[in-house]
Amino acid sequence: MAYDYDLFVIGAGSGGVRAARLAAELGARVGIAEEYRIGGTCVIRGCVPKKLLVYGSRYRTEFADARGFGWTVENERFDWPTLIGNVHREVDRLNGVYTRTLEKAGVDRFMTHAALEDPHMVKLGNGNAAVSAKTILVATGSHPMIPDLPGQEHLISSNECFELEQLPASIVIVGAGYIGMEFASIFRGFGVAVTVLYRGDQVLRDFDNDLRDGVAEAMRNRGIDLRMDTDVDRIDKEGSGFRVHLKRGDSIAADLVMAATGRGPTTSGLGLEQAGVELGGNGRIVVDEFSKSSVDSIYAVGDVTDRKNLTPVAIHEATAFAETVFSNKPTAVDLTFIPTAVFSQPEIGTVGLSEEKAREMYGMIDIYKTSFRPLRSMVSGRNERMLMKLVIDMKTDKVLGVHVLGSDAAEIVQMAAVALRLGVTKAQLDATMALHPSAAEELVTLRHKWEMPEPVAGSDAAA
Ligand code: FAD
Ligand code: NDP
Repeated sequence: MAYDYDLFVIGAGSGGVRAARLAAELGARVGIAEEYRIGGTCVIRGCVPKKLLVYGSRYRTEFADARGFGWTVENERFDWPTLIGNVHREVDRLNGVYTRTLEKAGVDRFMTHAALEDPHMVKLGNGNAAVSAKTILVATGSHPMIPDLPGQEHLISSNECFELEQLPASIVIVGAGYIGMEFASIFRGFGVAVTVLYRGDQVLRDFDNDLRDGVAEAMRNRGIDLRMDTDVDRIDKEGSGFRVHLKRGDSIAADLVMAATGRGPTTSGLGLEQAGVELGGNGRIVVDEFSKSSVDSIYAVGDVTDRKNLTPVAIHEATAFAETVFSNKPTAVDLTFIPTAVFSQPEIGTVGLSEEKAREMYGMIDIYKTSFRPLRSMVSGRNERMLMKLVIDMKTDKVLGVHVLGSDAAEIVQMAAVALRLGVTKAQLDATMALHPSAAEELVTLRHKWEMPEPVAGSDAAA
């Protein structure tokens, strides 16, 4: 049968754009549908504008730290409309770059909602237009999950944070994952009074416990009110702001209330069930290691498959898909050693296993760690410690995890990821020449194993 396209992609975000471009460059006839803006979450309302806000918010500490170095910084004033206007201009520029990339590759663009009609047909918009394709790639990403509680309509998500006309004087953020930690630091950097409410006992579940404790302490010292074991009961409108009522009885007033409570795969209304595509519990598309769904002609990549919801992962999955289907080179997705950062202040960079996970999986592990005040802080007077930690497999001496808290953690960990990928051992790190003076040199000069402290006689720990 003759199809309109060899490949039709639904969703022009990180995964969709990469797959469409590569397939077209490999000679396929490709169409793509996008209902919002080409570039997707990362470019339009995720990683990129977020990182620009992170840069902007860091000047507060830069100005404070400059004084120890002899600078007089006076009358500093922050203007949100200037920053957000410049951020929007950069987003528009990138939107243009992504659009031209598709154009140049010869991909047909349809700026509309798309849904499946059957395993080879895609319905475009609300009308009767439809196109057929030999292969369909669903790359519709994810969307913010808003908790189901009275007053949920008052909650904003990260999407709205990029559209604020003015900064609030105060904000309550519900959730202490990536977005909660990053936006708490961003808003605090701009002088907003920030309260974070988290239902668990420590921020950033699943990260290494030392990182979690370290970042929580540092964020509190920077003036963020982090409240653990705290559940929201309801949110009421109050004056020009809101009142957040907590389950334990007290309440907090704030100008804005933000849900940073996770993201869910965007699969509803896509006609997936009708086309026979198997969905997982939270609505994710179930795929095999080649990103193929339960229907032979339908593939899915990126957040919609809920494997590891990061941009480089979506791009990797898209590249493997294009190799598999259009280059006749079956390429399984490889999700080992994914480096990741939380752009909080201070920043977290991590790759490999946490101490807790490694202990569970390997049993016998060695820990090397150090916590120190970086050289710069000695003169700036900033009382904040940097943490570096290595998790080592005792049997093979292989490095299982690298965890960094502090300045440039993301930059340091990207390079550590190369070494882990190549199976670096602790002995090889020891044999690596240090670069001095740097913070990263600690990763190759850590010589003393960290020993669990002996329980103190008479203390609770000894009981
Ligand atoms: P997306 O990029 O979300 O693209 C999906 C596209 O599909 C969207 O453009 C959407 O409009 C479109 N679409 C959906 N349904 C339809 C339909 N039916 N018809 C037509 N079009 C449709 N990751 C990192 O690695 N580093 C970071 O620093 C980082 N920061 C983030 C900050 C925030 C605030 C957020 C929200 C996310 C962040 N992420 C970060 C995650 C990252 O943005 C995602 O993992 C990534 O964008 C996923 O790419 P994707 O291609 O799966 O989906
Ligand atoms: P996360 O899953 O990271 O964190 C969600 C937070 O909300 C957790 O603290 C979670 O608690 C809490 N939570 C979930 N549901 C509820 C609820 N119903 N009521 C109260 N609290 C709740 O999601 P984010 O929204 O922060 O980010 C989404 C994803 O986007 C990230 O997982 C990541 O993949 C990606 N991202 C990546 C970034 C980066 O690479 N720097 C930056 C931003 C986003 P609990 O821990 O108990 O489940």
